[in-house]
This record gives sequence, C-alpha cells and structure tokens, in this order.
Amino acid sequence: MIRMNDFASEPAELLQQEVAACERVLRSGNFILGNELGLFEERWARFCGVKFCAGVGNGTEAIELGLRALEIGRGDEVITTAMTAIPTVFAIIHAGATPVFADIDPETALLDLQSVKRCMSPRTRAVLLVHLYGRASGMGDWTAFCRDAGIHLLEDCAQAHGAFCDDQSAGSFGAWGAFSFYPTKNLGARGDAGALITNSEEIDARVRTLRNLGTTKRNEHPAVGWNSRLDEIQAALLSARLDWLSQFNARRQELACRYSAEIKSPLIRPLRSPASTAEHVYHLFVVRCSERERLASALADSQIETLVHYPIPVHRQESCTVFPRDPNGLPHAEAHAEQCLSIPCHPQLREDEVDLIINALNQFKL
Ligand SMILES: *Cc1c(COP(=O)(O)O)cnc(C)c1O
Repeated sequence: MIRMNDFASEPAELLQQEVAACERVLRSGNFILGNELGLFEERWARFCGVKFCAGVGNGTEAIELGLRALEIGRGDEVITTAMTAIPTVFAIIHAGATPVFADIDPETALLDLQSVKRCMSPRTRAVLLVHLYGRASGMGDWTAFCRDAGIHLLEDCAQAHGAFCDDQSAGSFGAWGAFSFYPTKNLGARGDAGALITNSEEIDARVRTLRNLGTTKRNEHPAVGWNSRLDEIQAALLSARLDWLSQFNARRQELACRYSAEIKSPLIRPLRSPASTAEHVYHLFVVRCSERERLASALADSQIETLVHYPIPVHRQESCTVFPRDPNGLPHAEAHAEQCLSIPCHPQLREDEVDLIINALNQFKL
C-alpha cells in the first residue's frame, strides 16, 4: 500500500538524531519549559524571519491564545474560510468570538477576498487566513486589505511550514502566525505541539503568560491562564526534524511538479499551481473529480491510499451551523468538499511509486 504518510521509511540518520534528542532530554532531567524549548523557539523564529516564537501545547491552542492575546473575544467577529480543518473554527469559538464563514477561490481552495468583503461588519476584528494544503499566496492583497479595513490579519499556518510568499515566510505577514506540529504536518513533533510566531513583543509576552497558567513570576497569576506548554522532548525532536524541513519540502515540491505535468486525465483536475514554487509546500496534493468516491476506490484497488480534506465544509458541521456566513452562500466551498481528493505527496515517496499513482490516475474511466 502506498500511504499518505510513511514515517517508517524516513532516513535512518534522522531516526538516530531523534533518539539522541530524546536521550539528551532524559539525561538533562528537565522536561517542561527548559533549554530545549528556548532553543527551538529561537530557531523557529529565525527560520520564519520573525522576532518571537512561543511554543504551546498544539495548533488549536496557538490560535486561541493568539486571539486572547489580542483581546479578541465576546462580541467580536473573525472571518475565516469554510474550507479548513475544524480546529481553526473551534479555536475562534473557544476564544469567545464568532466565526464568520467566507467562500473560497475554486482554483486554489483558498479564502476569496470578494467573499470576505461581503462578510465584513462593524464587529469584524480580524481575518484568519488558512494557508490550506501548504499554500501562501496573494499576501500583498491581504495585508493591504486588512490594513485599510483597520482589522488584524492572522495566519493559520498549520499546513504551511516553510512556505514563502514574496520572500517572506508564512506567518510573518500579520499580527501573528499559528503553527501546529501535529505529527503529519510538514514539520511535525512525535506527539502534540504548536507555536505562535510574531514580531510583537507584547503579543509574545501575553502568550507566554497565558500558556503557563497566567504566571508572570513564580506563584503570581494575574491572568487566568491555560496549561498549554510544548514539552522538552517534543522541542528537542522538533529541533532535530527542523534540520530536514527544507529538504523534505523541496521533495514535496518535486512530486507536485510531476503530478501537475503528468496528470493528463480530463476527469481529474489538480488545483492551480502557484506562479512561484516557494509559495506552496504541498502539505497535501489535491485533485478534483466529479466521481470522487469512484476514483478513491479505483486508487485503493491499485494499493494507493487517499484521503479527503475536507468532505464537510465547516458551516455544514452540526457544531457550526448557527454561525454567520457570506450572504451569497458558500457554493465553491460546497463544490470543493464534494470533489476534492488528496493523493500521496510525502517526502519518502519513491519515483516508481509516483509512476504508479500517475498511471492509475490517467487510466481512471467513468
Ligand atoms: C492541524 C491543523 C490545526 C490544528 O492543529 P492541532 O495541533 O491538531 O491542534 C489547525 N488548523 C489547520 C488548518 C490544521 O491543519
């Protein structure tokens, strides 16, 4: 079976580095808020070209604490995309704010600016962009729009580690960028972990207080906080895996390049490629097909695993039906949810496996 992710096939050298990282932590005797976290935070901030990075427990809490740090909550609206992983939306709800769902551009599956404009209200405090599938495009337009509207630009970068738009890292355009290091992400821990990057010293300081039970100094808790810390073992593992990120992303881009050039079936439509390669780190390679279920089972018959990201747009989730949305509806998100299919695109994929996948796609018949 060709899998969507294949960690067991990762380089032996990486595994050795991970084992060494764990051993280093075990021997240090420090397990929470120690040197490894500080080191990883510094390295991740530098990689993203920002001043600050605060590690937290997971990506969902990175978004929630980021919103809390900006005092976005009750009575405030945050516009985001109807085509995202549910945590984007739950984080907004947990912060006490109201998510407002905008539609996507059908050719990129990313948030559509015209739809966002229709979602604006006097209560809008921020646009939370999601760099879905690993793509950060059109950031100049978003930056200008949010600045002119006097609202915050926020970035959910959970799928876009190492994506660059106009030579600037995903997560560095607005007030903050939130990352998840869930194991399957482009940069993944071996458990749960997340981080918030920012150029604002104030936002960084607030998140550091909030993540650690509102502690400013020992035994003093002026704010009600969370327990949302990135532990030392995960931080050490992330430092080891960060050394491989650029190489792994380059491999994903190579695979995507082959898919884009060699998928010829008129029944299968990949999303539009970006003008600049650096903008897309292909956390997922997504195609669209009007007979999605039949395509998925044809691929399964050829021993190729696929997944759907995401079959239910968030506004159709039972937990989210009450929230406001584009008055013109969300037709593109709904059509995408019915047709999208993610095919294997992980860095360990071999050329012969890619041949097999492309063949299976091109041979698909209705
Ligand atoms: C994975 C993901 C998250 C949440 O991250 P966790 O670390 O699992 O909490 C948020 N948004 C998007 C778009 C994601 O893909």
